[in-house]
Amino acid sequence: MERIYIGMGSNLADPAEQLRSAVEALGQLPQTTLAGVSAFYQSDSLLPGQPRYTNAVAALDSSLAPIELLDALQAIENDQGRERLERWGPRTLDLDILLFGDRLIDEPRLKVPHYQIQERAFVLYPLAELAPQDLRLADGRSLSDLLAACPFVGLERIPTD
Ligand code: ATP
Ligand code: CA
Ligand code: CA
Repeated sequence: MERIYIGMGSNLADPAEQLRSAVEALGQLPQTTLAGVSAFYQSDSLLPGQPRYTNAVAALDSSLAPIELLDALQAIENDQGRERLERWGPRTLDLDILLFGDRLIDEPRLKVPHYQIQERAFVLYPLAELAPQDLRLADGRSLSDLLAACPFVGLERIPTD
């Protein structure tokens, strides 16, 4: 079993409901246990002219191989109506593998840790709700250093109902 953190995002078709459905689907993956879900956070799109995003992070314990998990996440995205029209376009559901145990993965389809963790407050703050305070990424960076360098700006934490 390895601890895996999944970044979830949606800005179409009732984003909070999309994330709740995604959490349910993650909980049903084979060889996998859902270990936790952060609060939901809203923020403006990084690209202008798109609806606001809702983001959250889920923690999984799984014995799936990384590519198997990526395949499963893409199937969940497709089930929830993800259309890939333009890069970074609006989407019903995006599931990114942020961290996979202490693995460093550099394959054509999969780079872990996710390449933009350090840039994205909507990833770092929900991740910090679930991860141990002294978490280090596989490349040696500490989560607390990344948080200190990424201000909590433009994020709105949504109370869970
Ligand atoms: P970004 O990667 O900047 O967050 P995005 O999530 O919108 O953008 P997608 O269109 O969802 O990008 O994914 C493009 C490809 O990224 C996927 O087909 C997948 O093979 C690849 N990929 C590489 N690393 C990862 C990862 N850690 N998690 C999920 N997909 C990844
Ligand atoms: Ca993404
Ligand atoms: Ca993605």
